[in-house]
Amino acid sequence: MVLASPEGYGFEEGASYYFSHMLNCVYDCRYCFLQGMYRSANYVLFINYEDFEAEIESSIKSASAPAVFYSGYDCDSLALEPVSKFCEYFLPVFRRNSNAIIEIRTKSTQIRSLLDTDSMQNCLSQ
Ligand code: SF4
Repeated sequence: MVLASPEGYGFEEGASYYFSHMLNCVYDCRYCFLQGMYRSANYVLFINYEDFEAEIESSIKSASAPAVFYSGYDCDSLALEPVSKFCEYFLPVFRRNSNAIIEIRTKSTQIRSLLDTDSMQNCLSQ
């Protein structure tokens, strides 16, 4: 599910959305709200990437200004990349939709897939 992001979540201009392909995070930072967010601390990976893609593209079409999409709200976007293939799947989606921006929020060093990817003006990582 792609949801409108809360006010003040990130960029100030244009529409912004977040989506979570995974729940919970391998890093377990003590200060993180995810520590008490869900009943289970198990990692849940949603593999219906095509559904996320369709909602992202629909949101891009309906936005009046360049839309920003945040991943990594309920997880770390890159931490399980070798298993999830998140960036491998979604970066081409945003390469095709260069009028939208994807921001990848991560503390992970799992950047091999990024290093193997041509740079994109509309992909930010922090
Ligand atoms: S890396 Fe980020 S998402 Fe993961 S536990 Fe730490 S603060 Fe939370």
